[in-house]
Amino acid sequence: MAFNPEYCPNCGKVLVPKGGMLICKKCKFEKPKTATSSFISKTELKKSEMPILEGNIQLLPTTNAKCPECGNNLAYWEMKQTRAADESPTRFLTCTKCRFRWRRYE
Ligand SMILES: [Zn+2]
Ligand SMILES: [Zn+2]
Repeated sequence: MAFNPEYCPNCGKVLVPKGGMLICKKCKFEKPKTATSSFISKTELKKSEMPILEGNIQLLPTTNAKCPECGNNLAYWEMKQTRAADESPTRFLTCTKCRFRWRRYE
């Protein structure tokens, strides 16, 4: 941490920080500490929008479905009501081989 000393305008002595203030030990001059030494690093945490399939994908049932990506004939599947309730649910298929994901309407 870089420390830029400030000097007392009365006697020229280095001011020492004390409880948010800078004070002169010699003549008791004091002034509020400036905010120049505070560094605020902003780290933006961006959450991935991608669905996380790793972990619990092995628990999904499999079905015979041809992957449009690699031609594999086995895929995990799960039903999801994605649109209006009166519409039929969508079956999401995930290739067991390349993890390609596509949907199929029932
Ligand atoms: Zn002083
Ligand atoms: Zn595939």
